[in-house]
Amino acid sequence: MSAVIIDGRAVAARIREGIAHDAAAMTAHGTPAPGLAVVLCGDDPASAIYVRNKGSAAEKVGFRFQLHRRPSHITTADVLSLVGALNADDAVDGVLVQLPLPPHIDADAVADAIAPEKDADGFNPANFGRLAEGRAAAVGATPLGCMELLRRYDVPIGGSRAVVLGRSVLVGRPAALLLTNADATVTICHSKTRDLADVCQAADILITAMGRPGAVDASYVKPGACVIDVGTTPRDGTIAGDVDRASVEPVAGWLTPVPGGVGPMTIAMLLRNTLTLASARRRAAAVV
Ligand code: NAP
Repeated sequence: MSAVIIDGRAVAARIREGIAHDAAAMTAHGTPAPGLAVVLCGDDPASAIYVRNKGSAAEKVGFRFQLHRRPSHITTADVLSLVGALNADDAVDGVLVQLPLPPHIDADAVADAIAPEKDADGFNPANFGRLAEGRAAAVGATPLGCMELLRRYDVPIGGSRAVVLGRSVLVGRPAALLLTNADATVTICHSKTRDLADVCQAADILITAMGRPGAVDASYVKPGACVIDVGTTPRDGTIAGDVDRASVEPVAGWLTPVPGGVGPMTIAMLLRNTLTLASARRRAAAVV
């Protein structure tokens, strides 16, 4: 048996089509299109590419897009002031501050400053708390993309055993909370976890978000399990995932490739988050 290869590019394209349709319906009667604002501090080349891709994807689905580029020596106070202005800007429905921020910037203060109702990538701790309570919340685009792939490929989640490799606030922890909220029984692993392969062997769903290229081989994978590879490490002019595909593909039931798995979903889910926030803001404005 060989794993079903999950086609994140195709799923993301279908999601973007649906978002374009919904954005057109929103604007058909004169309501402004959803607005996404991205803040990019510094000149990290990978971040610049990610932001360019986000902007072009947003414009293709009919959103208004603002890019706010700032030099790497910007102060925390100036980032907070920019985020405050975007929170107050009626043309903006979703705010995303591209990570990583320059090391001298207080990233926690920035996350705290993003208005929860404009939090396009689930950075604000209020949204993280709501997610932990199982309430509706803005959630990070990458973990949402993982869940969407599981659902689109009919991978059973409720009652399953899931293992998440990685406990970052960006990926591992929210992915584990989403799985828990979807009735999986979840184990979170990290760099201090003992007997990692044995823990992973119990998983019906294995999400790996470590940034360790090729670390997950067949010895980590229960036959028939669904393996979602979030890892992206630049290597030889392309990107490498955490999974050793040649070893895992014959064992797993489903597998996301890198590239072409979770990556395309991240932008699609950012757009969906922005549309959801825009719809909620327009509904709230209509009630007032
Ligand atoms: P991160 O903040 O560096 O977190 C990595 C996690 O992996 C940490 O929790 C770390 O444990 C754990 N880890 C590292 N080595 C380990 C080991 N030997 N055994 C077990 N756990 C280990 O990274 P991140 O932001 O979550 O991103 C993870 C990966 O996903 C990266 O490759 C990143 O590029 C990728 N990513 C991809 C997308 C996408 O759109 N596809 C989006 C975001 C991130 P400790 O907590 O103990 O240090």
